[in-house]
Amino acid sequence: MTEPVSGRVVVVTGAGRGIGAAVAEAFGALGDHVVVASRTGADLERVAAAVRAAGGEATPVAADVRDEAAMTALMEVAAALTGHIDVVVCSAGVARVAPFLELSVADWEETVASTLTGTFLTCRAAVPHMEAGGRLVVLSSIAGRSGFPEWSAYSAAKFGVLGFAEAIRAELRSRKIRVTAVIPGAVDTPLWNDVPGEWNRESMLQPADVARAIVRLVEDPDYLSTDEVALGHIAGAL
Ligand code: NAP
Repeated sequence: MTEPVSGRVVVVTGAGRGIGAAVAEAFGALGDHVVVASRTGADLERVAAAVRAAGGEATPVAADVRDEAAMTALMEVAAALTGHIDVVVCSAGVARVAPFLELSVADWEETVASTLTGTFLTCRAAVPHMEAGGRLVVLSSIAGRSGFPEWSAYSAAKFGVLGFAEAIRAELRSRKIRVTAVIPGAVDTPLWNDVPGEWNRESMLQPADVARAIVRLVEDPDYLSTDEVALGHIAGAL
């Protein structure tokens, strides 16, 4: 195992593609050791190579955020690098989009389990390995603030992520662990490939835009809690 140049260990779930991959690479550019997690090993190998090319260290771990034991094991791997985990970014998420009258229970459950329960399991497994000054970053969405037609399961999960973040922020204050909810508008990632309809990718944010906002958080002094970061395209919501 390699110690990070920066001294920082960062865990990113959903790191195989999209926002998580960009976040992993951006922390790599700071010289961090990034533990990259998602279910698809081939994606993780590619992202780990990009993290190393950017100047960081990388450890890929194939893990499903819905799996309690897998999250425990993931955090143990990360904590073993330096003895603790500095930053955790919960970017794993799934959007099953359909009119709610046609939404299957399976699609509802997959969206909620991956996006909301997965965020809970990730944070719960990580915090015992975190110290004062540590930071949890959870991905909510503009759909966590407003409901959009056909996004009911996703909106329910993302509103839930914001409520969860608010509650654990209050709980973790005494341990001086900060919790930041990131609230992006549409971002041009593979998530949109399976969403029915025509979407103008040119009026979406880029994954690197979200990554930049997240890595900037490490510049905050330890007393500063950035509770929420909302990001949108100048063109407005889709
Ligand atoms: P994406 O391109 O679809 O990537 C999602 C990543 O999460 C993949 O690496 C996927 O890999 C992983 N993942 C999904 N389910 C998982 C599970 N059960 N366990 C572990 N990993 C899992 O999505 P994205 O657009 O980057 O979205 C990242 C986060 O930002 C999500 O929470 C999303 O809701 C949120 N967000 C996205 C947008 C947007 O417009 N794209 C806007 C606001 C918020 P595997 O399938 O290989 O596991």
